[in-house]
Amino acid sequence: MRIDILTLFPEMFAGVLNSSILKKAQEKKAVTFNVINFRDFSEDKHKKVDDYPYGGGAGMVLMPQPIFSAVEHITANTNKKPRIILLCPQGEPYTQKKAEELAKEEHLILICGHYEGFDERIREYLATDEISIGDYVLTGGEIAAMVICDSVTRLLPDVLGNQMSAASDSFSSGLLEYPQYTRPANFRGMKVPDVLLSGHHEKIAQWRKEQALKRTKERRPDLYEKYIESLS
Ligand code: SAM
Repeated sequence: MRIDILTLFPEMFAGVLNSSILKKAQEKKAVTFNVINFRDFSEDKHKKVDDYPYGGGAGMVLMPQPIFSAVEHITANTNKKPRIILLCPQGEPYTQKKAEELAKEEHLILICGHYEGFDERIREYLATDEISIGDYVLTGGEIAAMVICDSVTRLLPDVLGNQMSAASDSFSSGLLEYPQYTRPANFRGMKVPDVLLSGHHEKIAQWRKEQALKRTKERRPDLYEKYIESLS
């Protein structure tokens, strides 16, 4: 997979893309990240990328030209149309299902907004998707783009050491994950449930299923309802 990130703050990405699973995924050639400053594509002599909103109002709006030109530059030599994703609080709420959908693509372009956001023509004529990572407003789309890079990359084949770990993560099955324990079996009198020490695989699987259902019902009744409906 190739992921191009268009941003005005490329320096924000170095730490995240060069650590942990994202670093390993690049070493394994499962993914390539290109962080591109779309200011470089501005045709303005001062490299301006934003301007005052027509009709007045607070803040500055990102102009279409630098972002259209940056995307056209990226797609000039690509055969297959990439998904062009605007990060914005008005977008579709991001979920594990969307991450799974994006992980099947070969090429994503993530566009990070700033200031008051994007000129509407970017939304209307360039983007294929608009994604929000939650009902709150960030200063820019960079952190949201990092969320997408991380959640999508860990789903790519051979990226996680144990292929099963993504499948048992919360949301992948429609339920939150069951409680996990590691050594010691008794920590300051706080004990690991006996069943996990029993070595009885069927009983352990049954306990985990019950715990996942219980936890989801208590913490996320909305997900629980959906899961139960999906069984009928
Ligand atoms: N005026 C815009 C509005 O009310 O929709 C908010 C602009 S916000 C200050 C600047 C940029 O941060 C946005 O263009 C977007 O790229 C990013 N951003 C802010 N909140 C976000 C969220 N919840 N999800 C994804 N991106 C977000």
